[in-house]
Amino acid sequence: MSVLVVGSLALDSIETPFGSAKDKVGGSATYISAAASYFVNPIRIVGVVGGDFPQEGLTFLEERNIDLEGLEVVSGGKTFRWSGRYHYDLNERDTLLTELNVFDRFDPKIPEKYRKTRIVCLGNIDPVLQHRVLDQMENPRFVVCDTMNYWIEKKNADLRETLKSINALILNDSEARLLSHEPNLIKAGRVIRQMGPSVVIIKKGEHGALLLTETMVFSAPAYPMENIFDPTGAGDSFAGGFVGWIARTDDISEENLKRAVIYGSTLASFCVEKFGVEGLSDLTYLQIQDRFRQFREISRFDED
Ligand code: AMP
Repeated sequence: MSVLVVGSLALDSIETPFGSAKDKVGGSATYISAAASYFVNPIRIVGVVGGDFPQEGLTFLEERNIDLEGLEVVSGGKTFRWSGRYHYDLNERDTLLTELNVFDRFDPKIPEKYRKTRIVCLGNIDPVLQHRVLDQMENPRFVVCDTMNYWIEKKNADLRETLKSINALILNDSEARLLSHEPNLIKAGRVIRQMGPSVVIIKKGEHGALLLTETMVFSAPAYPMENIFDPTGAGDSFAGGFVGWIARTDDISEENLKRAVIYGSTLASFCVEKFGVEGLSDLTYLQIQDRFRQFREISRFDED
């Protein structure tokens, strides 16, 4: 089963306490597709880049078997740019720059052969665009959506409209509080579920993630990492691992959603070990399985 991914393809400039990099290939769709590609093929990407998007970025996606028919290239335009600076503890970051460029006029057109894709992942972009993508899809079975503070603040009403048409929302703890106006995350999850999605996943950085449904609160551990190099893309890799596992198994039972959250955390952990998309470039399924099992070990204990 394939997955349709829509989101940003970007040139990121990143500063961490360990170094900095300028105009590195990134973007929500790039990270999501790369992470999901370890579970199912092909991943179908919908997005836009300018003529300045480097060939190395396209090669990276092609090597991961990602179908680029839905990728628009505006030859005279500039690619979306984002720049961020991480604090000392790497949990917090400041956005220094968001330049929409070709995304400003982007009108997503879903190729005919993509329209029946059953699993859709709406990566972090303007919620108006996310909605336009859904309008062109024919009865998707499971729609996962990611967003961020930028859109919660700038396009709140549009985001609320998109939320009515999705099944699962992934966001981090501060974004959940911002969207729900509720400091407690369990309550925040309940408020957000009332906005549309029946499944809400709240990521808590190095403290794991919460999976909330009508009948369940599942607390997923975080993988204890000693070497975090660059947290950029962790959230998107999480979404890619989550949606990839759902597509591979075609199972949205509560037990399988829990596994999907652990696969999401697994892919995020690989992502942050290297700079940019490098951490997702040549993993093996065996490595992924191995780390998935370690997640169980780190929080298992005997009753007596
Ligand atoms: P993450 O670290 O998972 O939150 O994702 C970081 C990626 O999101 C970077 O590669 C950025 O290019 C991309 N990004 C940041 N801000 C935005 C935005 N407002 N819209 C779309 N993509 C964004």
